[in-house]
Amino acid sequence: MNAPFRIHAPVVSPSGRDRIAWHPRGVVAVDEDGRILFRGDEDDLPESLTALPAISCGDVLLPGMIDAHVHLPQFDCRGKFGATLMEWLDRFIYPEEMRFAQETVARDTARRFYHALLEAGTTTAMVYGSVHERATHIAFEEAERAGLRIILGNVLMDRGAPAALLLSTKEALVASERLIETWHRKTPLLSYAITPRFAPTCTPELLRGAGALAAKHDTWVQTHINETSGEIARVRELFPESAHYTGVYREAGLLGDRTVLGHNIHTDDEQMEVLREHNCAVAHCPDSNLFLGSGRFPLERHEQYGIRTALGSDVGAGTTLSMLHVMRTMSYVQGRSLHPFLPLFHATLGGAEALGLANETGSLEVGKSADMITVHVERQFCRGKTLQDLSDVEIASVLVYRTPETVVRRVWIRGKEAGSA
Ligand SMILES: [Zn+2]
Repeated sequence: MNAPFRIHAPVVSPSGRDRIAWHPRGVVAVDEDGRILFRGDEDDLPESLTALPAISCGDVLLPGMIDAHVHLPQFDCRGKFGATLMEWLDRFIYPEEMRFAQETVARDTARRFYHALLEAGTTTAMVYGSVHERATHIAFEEAERAGLRIILGNVLMDRGAPAALLLSTKEALVASERLIETWHRKTPLLSYAITPRFAPTCTPELLRGAGALAAKHDTWVQTHINETSGEIARVRELFPESAHYTGVYREAGLLGDRTVLGHNIHTDDEQMEVLREHNCAVAHCPDSNLFLGSGRFPLERHEQYGIRTALGSDVGAGTTLSMLHVMRTMSYVQGRSLHPFLPLFHATLGGAEALGLANETGSLEVGKSADMITVHVERQFCRGKTLQDLSDVEIASVLVYRTPETVVRRVWIRGKEAGSA
C-alpha cells in the first residue's frame, strides 16, 4: 500500500505505433495499490480526485522504459572491444561471468546494476543472469529490494564454453527448477525466464529440457538468435538436422508467445513464418548491433510478419542501459530517420506487448500499474516555443532525438517512488 497521489506535469503516453497521448498540462492520479485512476488534461480531472495530495512537476512524465534484453553479469564489461561476437565472449564475457561464483561479486554487481537501471528510467527489464544458481538467487533478492519489475533467469550452457561455466545437463535443469519454484511469480513484480544462452552452447538435450521446464511451469523463455554470421555457421555445424537456427529452438519446444528472442538480424522468410506461427517476440538491440557490427535489423520484415518487437540495451555488448539512447540508435541503425513515435512505442508499450505485460505496464492508462518516470528536457526550442507549445510529434522528437540533453529525474513502479522508504 502506498499513499495515493496525483502528479501534474506535461504527460506523454504512447497508445500505438503511430500515435501518442500528449497532455501539455496533464495530470495522472494514482491509487493506494499503485494503479492509475486517471490520465488526462488538468481541466478534465474528476472532482472526486482533486482531494488527492498533489505533486507539481515541470519535467515530462512518461511510462517507465522497458529493456527487453540485458545481461546483469556483463554490467562492468560495457565498451570492451572484441572483433567478433565469439571473440568478445571468449576474451571478456566468459572470464567476467566466472567471477559470479563469488557471492560478494554477485551481490555487489546486482545492486549497482539495478540502481543503474532505475537511474536510466527503466522500470521493467528482462534479464540474463550468470550460470550460477546462487548468483541468480541473489539477483532475484536484489531485484525485489530495488522494487523493479524483472523477468530473470540463470543462463544455461552445457558445452562450447569454458569448463568453469558449464554444468551437466541434469544439474543445469535441476538448478533452474529450484529457482522457478522459489521465484517465478513470487511477487507481482518478479518472474522467471528459462534462459539457454544460445544454441552454440547448449546440447539438444539441454534445449529440450529447457523447453519442457518452460511448459511445465509456464515461464518466459529468452535466448539469442541470428545475431552474426559466425554464430549462425556454428549452429549449422552443431545441428545439421535442423533446417535453420529457428528450427533448433522450435524442435526443442522453446517457441511460444512468452518467448523473447534477442537480435534476429540475419533471418529469412521461412524463419519469420515460424516465429509468426508460434507468436514469438523479438528483442531488437540496436546499440549492441552497432557496437559489434552485427548488421542492420530488418525492422520492416518484422512489421510485415506482425512480430512483436521490443527494444533491448543488450548491456554489455550494448554500451549503455539508457533506453532513451537505445531509442535513438534504433533509428540510426536503420540508416534513415524514423518517425519518433515508433522508437518511443517500442521502448514502452511495444516492449510491454512483446513481454506479454501490456495489461500491466508500458503506457499510462487507467487500471495499469503506475510505472512512470519524469525526464528533464532542455527548454530551448526553435521559434521561441515553450514545452507546452510543442505538438505531439515535436515532444516525441525531443524525447527520442535530443536524448543527450535528457535526464531522468524521478521513477515510480506500481505507484511507489524508487528511493523512497
Ligand atoms: Zn545478449
